[in-house]
Amino acid sequence: MSEHTDYKSTFYIDGQWIDTDEKPHLAVINPATEAVVGNIPLGNANDVDDAVRAATQAFESFAQTTREERLDLLKKIASEYKRRSADMAAAITAEMGAPKWLSESNQAASGYLHFKSAIQILENFEFEFQQDSALIRKEPIGVCGFITPWNWPVNQIGCKLAPALATGCTVVWKPSEVAPFSAQILMEILDAAAVPKGVVNMVHGDGPAVGSAISKHPDIHMVSFTGSTAAGVAVAKDAADSIKRVTQELGGKSANIILDDLSEERFAKAVAGGVKTLCVNSGQNCNAPSRLFVPKARLSEAESVVKATMEKLTVGDPHTEGNYMGPVVSEIQWNRIQAHIQSGIDSGAILLTGGLGRPEGLDRGYYIKPTAFSSVSNDMPIAQNEIFGPVVCVISYEDDADAISMANANDYGLSGYVSGADSDRVAKLASALRAGMIHLNGAQMDRTAPFGGYKHSGNGRERGPQGFEEFLETKALLGMS
Ligand code: NAD
Repeated sequence: MSEHTDYKSTFYIDGQWIDTDEKPHLAVINPATEAVVGNIPLGNANDVDDAVRAATQAFESFAQTTREERLDLLKKIASEYKRRSADMAAAITAEMGAPKWLSESNQAASGYLHFKSAIQILENFEFEFQQDSALIRKEPIGVCGFITPWNWPVNQIGCKLAPALATGCTVVWKPSEVAPFSAQILMEILDAAAVPKGVVNMVHGDGPAVGSAISKHPDIHMVSFTGSTAAGVAVAKDAADSIKRVTQELGGKSANIILDDLSEERFAKAVAGGVKTLCVNSGQNCNAPSRLFVPKARLSEAESVVKATMEKLTVGDPHTEGNYMGPVVSEIQWNRIQAHIQSGIDSGAILLTGGLGRPEGLDRGYYIKPTAFSSVSNDMPIAQNEIFGPVVCVISYEDDADAISMANANDYGLSGYVSGADSDRVAKLASALRAGMIHLNGAQMDRTAPFGGYKHSGNGRERGPQGFEEFLETKALLGMS
């Protein structure tokens, strides 16, 4: 696969690629090389107006399409997506640094899988049912505004776009300005699949200009946001005056509780599995198991597994086979993670491995040393704040109640992980965690299970039938059967 250095993108409004040559442009940096990899035009509120006008007009007919017509459309998109998978993976690696293996097997593949799973759900989804004297009908909510992040760029739009199209909504989308080229490829896929004009519109730009114009727009009926909690709050405030529905997929600081009843072998497997899950995608995962809770009596056993596992993780050029981790996305993120590591050192946590600076032998690119702190207390800033990098905090607990109380003593509540030999005990702890998705004994992600958080991790759910509901209004037709 050849590496491009001249990626470009433009706006797509009302089924047309817009000439944006006269707009101000933003350079996009490849985080592995620190070189410019392409650029994008920056939009404004007028561009959002144009996109909303197109989406509003398209909604009139798209909302009336049949289930079969929308199934056909989604199948065409999925097939075109499959054809462009390699281009998608290459763009993701270039724009945000995910290693080639991850871009191909997960990052790019996840977009395709969201369309496949929307097809599966749409086949049997109940849009109408009788409830006592009323006929209940689920209708598309209208024009949806989507604002997405850079860490899983096509996954995060796929899990919004596929259900929106499946339910008959139209869309105005602002991709992340940090990782915008996978977005261009996705729009090319939709264009090639003959998505009717105006149904999906894309405008590039930054959060304060284009993101805020979407959140505030009076003719957008719902806004679905994925990103940081701070920006999620701004979106909700901007959206308040127009009473639109707001769904927020925000940050996390998920607890990974390892119980004391595991054999030495299973204990090591659970600890190592947690560390590797955290470090995939360079730790830039909202659901990362970043707080590792281990029984006090087994702390040193856990520390040796964490240290050995992290020291085996290979970091480097995302195109080199065998590298588990590439760089983090940008200089800004690199500096933020360094500040978190410094804060851990300053708080008196024990640095088990990793630390400040780039890994040995890498003097260019935003690479981070896989880093583990032990003797972390749950109230230290490194245990409370989302680091969004390959940094784990090992926290020891006295008993199950202590583990749960510390796990829940955090503003976030996106995911949780519990491993133990006694399945009843594992289930009890999983139920006590205040978070939206709990993985028991290493259970993998299920693409049709609802994804979303409690507390500051957000509102609403994506994926599965619950993800469809976010794009539907409920109408009660009384006296109709
Ligand atoms: P970010 O909040 O900086 O940006 C996300 C998007 O919001 C971008 O498109 C950005 O331009 C836009 N934006 C920024 N300020 C805005 C504003 N005031 N109004 C409207 N839009 C605005 O986040 P990021 O750095 O791109 O992504 C990392 C964050 O995303 C992490 O906190 C991570 O946990 C979170 N995330 C959450 C999930 C989830 O499903 N819960 C998934 C992926 C990422």
